[in-house]
Amino acid sequence: MINVNTRNISPEVAGTDKQLGLVFNDKKWIEYRRKWDENPKQGIVEKVPLQIDLFAVDICNLKCPMCPRQAFIPGKGYMDTKSIKRILDQGAEHGLCAFNFSGLGEPTLHPDVLEIIRYAKEKGVVDVNMHTNGTRLGAEFNKKLLESGLDRLIVSLDSADKQRYESIRIGASFEKVYAGVEDLIKQRNDHKSARLHIKANFIEMDEKDDTEKNKFITYWKGKVDRIAVLRYLDCKDVERLFWKENYVQDNDFCCPELWRRLIILSDGTATLCPRDMQKHHIIGNVNDKTISEIWTGEKIQKIRDMHRKGCFKELGFCADCPDSYDKKKDEQKK
Ligand code: SF4
Repeated sequence: MINVNTRNISPEVAGTDKQLGLVFNDKKWIEYRRKWDENPKQGIVEKVPLQIDLFAVDICNLKCPMCPRQAFIPGKGYMDTKSIKRILDQGAEHGLCAFNFSGLGEPTLHPDVLEIIRYAKEKGVVDVNMHTNGTRLGAEFNKKLLESGLDRLIVSLDSADKQRYESIRIGASFEKVYAGVEDLIKQRNDHKSARLHIKANFIEMDEKDDTEKNKFITYWKGKVDRIAVLRYLDCKDVERLFWKENYVQDNDFCCPELWRRLIILSDGTATLCPRDMQKHHIIGNVNDKTISEIWTGEKIQKIRDMHRKGCFKELGFCADCPDSYDKKKDEQKK
C-alpha cells in the first residue's frame, strides 16, 4: 500500500477529531472519521467529499498579518443562502459527513450563519464545524449558536497575552473575545443538549522558546475541549512560508486531503485544497456542475493519480506545500 501521509501538522493538546465519536457516543461520527483516515490510504473516492469546506464569506472585520487576505484581495461579499442550501442538498443526497463553514473572511458575518448551520444539521450532516476569530461571540449570539446544533467551533485565540494577541489579531479586543469564548463555554456547559466542541488555536510566531505557547495552554487547558498549535505562515512572503530550517520534506508525500475534502469559494469555484485560495487549480464550479461531478471528475482525479505515483513535486502548486514537511527529528524532541 502506498505511504499516504495522514499526520496532523498541528500538535494538539487533548484528543483528536477521531476520538470525538466516542465522546459524543455517535456511531456515524466514528464511521466518518474512519473513512477520513482510511480513504486516502486506500484511494477510495466517495460520491461526494467527506467534507465540504465552504469559503462562503469574503468580508472580515480584522486585519491579521498571516491572513491570505493580506496577499490578495478575495471577493467583497458572501455566497447567497440559496446557493449554500443547494450545495448542502447535493452533498446530503450522497451522505455528506462534514461541512466546514468558513471563508477568506469571518463566517459569523454572514447574515444567515445560524440558519445555514441549522440547515446542515437538518440535512443529516454529522460534523458541522466553523472557524471564527471570535469577535461576534457574546451572550446573545452564543445562545443562538448553541441552539443551531453546531458540532465544532474552532476559535483563533492565538495568545493569552493581550499585547501579543492584539498585535496578531489586528482590530480585535482581547478582553471582548476572551469574555465571549468564556461565556460560550459556560452556556455550553449549562446547556442540556448542546454537544458543541470548542477548540482554541494558538499561533507560533518567531519566538525562541515555548513561554507564550505554554502560557496559552495553561490558560485554556480544562476550559476549552482542545488546543491546537499552528505554524505562522506569512502569506505576503511565500519564501518564508514557515521556518524551513526546522523542517524536512517528505519525498514520498501523498496528500490525504485530495480524498477528503472539497473547497468551494464564494463565487462557486471549486479549488484543489484549502491552500489554493488564489485558484491555481480550478477543478470545477458549483454553478455548472454538481458536487459529485466535480469530486469524481477528471481534473481532480489526474491530480490524485500524480500524488499516488509519488509525483507531487511535478505539480508546481503542491511542490513546496508545508504539509509535505515535517519537523526535523531533533526539533521534535524539544
Ligand atoms: S497544496 Fe497540494 S499537497 Fe498541499 S494541501 Fe494542497 S493539494 Fe495537498
